[in-house]
Amino acid sequence: MRPQAPLVETDDVVLHFPVSGGGPLGLSRRFVKALNGVSLTVRPGETVGLVGESGSGKSTLGRALLGLEPITSGHVVFDGTSVSAGKRQDLARLRRETAMVFQDPLNALNPRLTAGEAIAEVLRVHRKVPKDEIAGRVDELLTLVGLGPSLARRKPQALSGGQCQRVGIARALAIEPKLIVADECVAALDVSIQGQIINLFIDLKDRMKLTVVFIAHDLAIVRRLCDRVAVMYLGRIVEEGPTEKVFSSPRHPYTAALIESIPEIDPDIPLPEAPMQGEPPSPMNLPPGCAFHPRCPHARQQCRADPPPELRRRDDHGWACILEPGDLPRPQTADRLHPAPHLQSPQGEHP
Ligand code: SF4
Repeated sequence: MRPQAPLVETDDVVLHFPVSGGGPLGLSRRFVKALNGVSLTVRPGETVGLVGESGSGKSTLGRALLGLEPITSGHVVFDGTSVSAGKRQDLARLRRETAMVFQDPLNALNPRLTAGEAIAEVLRVHRKVPKDEIAGRVDELLTLVGLGPSLARRKPQALSGGQCQRVGIARALAIEPKLIVADECVAALDVSIQGQIINLFIDLKDRMKLTVVFIAHDLAIVRRLCDRVAVMYLGRIVEEGPTEKVFSSPRHPYTAALIESIPEIDPDIPLPEAPMQGEPPSPMNLPPGCAFHPRCPHARQQCRADPPPELRRRDDHGWACILEPGDLPRPQTADRLHPAPHLQSPQGEHP
């Protein structure tokens, strides 16, 4: 069977931001190298997780997918149309057919609008339903995200963080988007509420066949929700593949170290020896060779001298490292990451 055509695809995307104030006479000569040749494919109906430490480029990539960041080179293709040329009609189509769910649910909502008005505003701007059907559609969307229509008259300040995030998701769904990018959308919520929002995503994904790029630093959440995962380090994808394969048999030392770094909740189980040394280098001054070599316990001379390894694939599982599959041991934490205790059973949120 032929694989489905991608919904969104990036090809060798580079995005370097100039840093103001550097160089002689205050002219900028330095760049933050946020993305350094990222190729990613997302197919319709897939949920793809982007993970990595702060500064890995995952949020920048998410914004580039939605045409919110002008890229330096490479291509972003959405539903068969290249949007990286920045043509106004292509970007307008991208705005109509994609949506973002933000990290801070309270600040993402207009404090002057009630939940119902915030959702109605999207329906009106995108002309999704006739005027006289907007109120009914608002009720449907509130119900879809697990909020009763009675909450439609509340302003964000009168809602909990989880309820605000449900309103944010309802606003995203109001567009009937082909693609949703959720950027750390549960990071600001209590752990128990995180589980409820993730269960909502799982439910919506199954019912509506949503295509989602889910950006998160919590690996347990990504394992619970995502079909595939891409691991980013200093603006590159260093590992990518089906979630279970990546978590149970990582092929890149950085992925293995991230998995081993998950804090142990059982105090009787000893912490693993520090799996990763130090902090990531500055994205303005990338190390030569493999950018992970200063922190990699497996680094060899060639890792410091040769160009960074290309992502190579075997069995639908790609990795950018000189090591071979099986060279890394299975992470000790791989089993206890699934299922995460706070993500196990769907349950409603108390209004
Ligand atoms: Fe480590 Fe070398 Fe692999 Fe880079 S290429 S992750 S330094 S073993």
